[in-house]
Amino acid sequence: MRITFNKDLSALNTFRMKVRAAAFAEYSGLEGLRAILSMPGLPRPLLHIGGGSNLLFSGDFKGTVLHSAVKGILFIDNGTPEVLARVGAGESFDGFCALAASKGLWGTENLSLIPGEAGAAAVQNIGAYGVEIKDVLESVEAYDTVSGEMVTLGCEDCRYAYRDSVFKNEAKGRYIILYVTFKLSRDYSPRLSYGHVEAAVREVCGSGTLTPMMVRDAIVGIRKTKLPAVEETGSAGSFFRNPFVSREQYEAIASRYEKVPHFINPDGTVKIPAAWLIEQCGLKGYSEGNAAVYHKQPLVIVNATGEATPDEILSLEQKVIDSVWNRFSIRLSPEVEHI
Ligand SMILES: Cc1cc2nc3c(=O)[nH]c(=O)nc-3n(C[C@H](O)[C@H](O)[C@H](O)COP(=O)(O)OP(=O)(O)OC[C@H]3O[C@@H](n4cnc5c(N)ncnc54)[C@H](O)[C@@H]3O)c2cc1C
Repeated sequence: MRITFNKDLSALNTFRMKVRAAAFAEYSGLEGLRAILSMPGLPRPLLHIGGGSNLLFSGDFKGTVLHSAVKGILFIDNGTPEVLARVGAGESFDGFCALAASKGLWGTENLSLIPGEAGAAAVQNIGAYGVEIKDVLESVEAYDTVSGEMVTLGCEDCRYAYRDSVFKNEAKGRYIILYVTFKLSRDYSPRLSYGHVEAAVREVCGSGTLTPMMVRDAIVGIRKTKLPAVEETGSAGSFFRNPFVSREQYEAIASRYEKVPHFINPDGTVKIPAAWLIEQCGLKGYSEGNAAVYHKQPLVIVNATGEATPDEILSLEQKVIDSVWNRFSIRLSPEVEHI
């Protein structure tokens, strides 16, 4: 367990906001976590972060930021095609994806290169290229701050939906995740049906049999051409959720524009990419001060110069929301969590 006061958080959020926390506490197991939670005088409120890649701090944080240093990746192989992997919440999620792919295990290769830690991946129901965490999650082991006990939640208990889970709603702040167990497969099971993934993978890998590592490499290649590298440009990835609209609203838009990219959901609503809506507003590459709408992917707001303040990001966020509302009567909501 390690506690630091007046902690600089600029290296702990991928937007690179220059903010501080009154205290920062890191633990490597249940005992350390319990000790932190029962420590008198630690500034409140508490905020658990992972890699800070989905957070926007709007200023200094007056309480204590908690961080998991729970490590370890244990593969449980029962000799069946299914292999379980129990991953410490503080492990890099992409590090785990790389390790699983190197062992020839299918399941997480499409999720390669998503920043952040394993614990947060289960909170966020991260998704990319047709796969979401819910498709590969077996269970979550978490400390329940209400009962003071460890609990194990199965995939259904986590109530996953698009970038959503019980951890972001009714149980917000209640569970601190220590381990996530994923179910992987030895059986040949590439998932290439999303968008242009198959074409992109085949372009890199040819027409033969694929390995998880081949798919991972192709996905990493695609992502590098589209998204800013967090080491170079501050961002939190997709800033906005893709909106779901009614069939009528979609048709009204489709009658005004030649080709509206869309996806019809099982419940009849229509998902329209927020990136397309933002681009139609002429905001792709638009900048205000030190903040910008990323020139290659308008769903991403970037700290373009490294000097952007929280206010500049928030002001650009509002500009995008207002522009899309004025043109399409669709209210974009942020995927990024505002602190
Ligand atoms: C360049 C870039 C690309 C991205 N691409 C994608 C993408 O393709 N798909 C996608 O889904 N996301 C993407 N993201 C968003 C982000 O990477 C994910 O949301 C990621 O899961 C956040 O992980 P983190 O460890 O940084 O968590 P943080 O942002 O620090 O925290 C996220 C949430 O998890 C909670 N949390 C963290 N750790 C724990 C824990 N141990 N127990 C309980 N709660 C916890 C926090 O309180 C917070 O609510 C991208 C981000 C960037 C910067």
